[in-house]
Amino acid sequence: MADIILLPGKEKRVWAGHPWIFKSDIARAKGDPAPGDTVRVTASNGRFLAMAAYNPASQIALRILSRRDGEISEAFIRSRVRRAIEYRKTFADLRSCRLIFAESDGLPAVIVDSFGDVLVLQCLCLGMEKYKETICDALMDEMRPRGIYERGDVPVRELEGLKQVTGVLRGEVPDRVRMEENGVRFWVDVKQGQKTGFFLDQKENRAAIAPFVRGKRVLDCFSHTGSFALHAAKYGAGEVTGVDISEFACECARENAELNGFSNVRFVAANAFDFLKEQCAAGEQYDVVILDPPAFTKTRAAVEAAARGYKEINLRGMKLLRDGGYLVTCSCSQHMLPGQFRDVVLSAARDAHVQLFQAEYRTQGRDHPILPAAPETQYLKCGIFRVDKNG
Ligand code: SAH
Repeated sequence: MADIILLPGKEKRVWAGHPWIFKSDIARAKGDPAPGDTVRVTASNGRFLAMAAYNPASQIALRILSRRDGEISEAFIRSRVRRAIEYRKTFADLRSCRLIFAESDGLPAVIVDSFGDVLVLQCLCLGMEKYKETICDALMDEMRPRGIYERGDVPVRELEGLKQVTGVLRGEVPDRVRMEENGVRFWVDVKQGQKTGFFLDQKENRAAIAPFVRGKRVLDCFSHTGSFALHAAKYGAGEVTGVDISEFACECARENAELNGFSNVRFVAANAFDFLKEQCAAGEQYDVVILDPPAFTKTRAAVEAAARGYKEINLRGMKLLRDGGYLVTCSCSQHMLPGQFRDVVLSAARDAHVQLFQAEYRTQGRDHPILPAAPETQYLKCGIFRVDKNG
C-alpha cells in the first residue's frame, strides 16, 4: 500500500478532525498509488495520520476512511454501515430517512436514502466505488429492503473519473415507492425524481410548521413534490398554494395531494421569482410563506450573487405576509453560512420595513448528522420568523 506524505503543518486539519485533505496539502507519494486506491496518509515527519481514499484528479485528493493504521477490510466497511443504521434507529424512522450521510458517517461521498422498502444509493467519489458492493451487501443484511437503486446520474462523478450510472443494484425496485413522513403519505419517484427522489433533510422542519398553520392561508414556494404544502394541509391549513418551476414536480405533488385526500391544496408550475412579484402586484396576502429554493450557489465565489437571489425572494415573501404572519425561509447552499443567511434575511426585512421575531433557527434533520470538525457538513438553514409590520 502506498503512503501519501503531507506538507509540513498540513497534519493540523487532520488532527482537528476534518475528513478532507486537499491536493495542495500533499508533498509526495511513497510507492505508486493509482487513482481510487486506499492509501496511508502520514505527516511530513512520517507520523501516521489516517487511511484515505485517494484521487489526484480531485481537489479533495484524500477522503479519510479511518484514523487507525491498517487495511480497510470488508468487515470495517460493514461496521460503518451498521453504525450508521444504529444511529438512525435512535433518531429517525428507518423507513423514511437518510441512512448514510457520507463523511458524517465515515463513508465519504456515499449517500443512502431509505424510502419505504427501497433504498437509493449514490456513490460520488472514485475511491469508494470499490466498496459499493460491500455496502450493498451490508445494507441487504441489515435492512432487508425490497431493492437498492443507484442514482449515479450526477455530473460530479465525471469530475472524479467515474461514469454516470443509474440502475438496480439489488432486488427489485418499482418506479415509484410509497413512503410516509410525519404521517403524510408520498409517492417517491426514485428513478426519475430530483436527486434521490425526495428531500429528506427537511423532515423535522416540515413538522415544525404545525403550530402556526391551522386555518391559515399558506404559500409554499419551490414546493417540489409538495412536501411542505402537504404538511400544512395535514396540520389544518385553510388553503395552500405550492409553486414549482417543474411541471413534473407539480404533477407529482398533485398526486401526493390526492393520495392524502387533500382538496384545498393547489400546485402552480411557475418561476417563483415571477409568481412572488405577481402576487405582490395583485395585492394578495398570506398568513404563512415558505421559501425552500435550490442551492443558489455551488461555489464560494458566487455567494454574493446567491445572496441577492435569497434577498429578493425573502423581501417579496415578507411583503406578501399579513402582520404577524410566519416566514419559513431556507437555504441549502453549503457556502452560505448560517450567520450569513440570517443577515440576508435581516437585510430583506429592513427593505420591507418589517420587524423579524425569530421563533426558531433550525438546520437539517438529525439523520443528516453534522461533524463539528467539518462545518461544511452543516449546510441547511431553516429560519422560522414572525413578521411584524406595525411596530
Ligand atoms: N421544498 C421542497 C424542496 C425544494 S428543492 C421539499 O421540501 O421537498 C427546490 C425546488 O425548486 C425544485 O423542485 C426545483 O424544481 C424548484 N425550482 C428551481 N428553480 C425554481 C424557480 N425559479 N421557481 C420555482 N421553482 C424552482
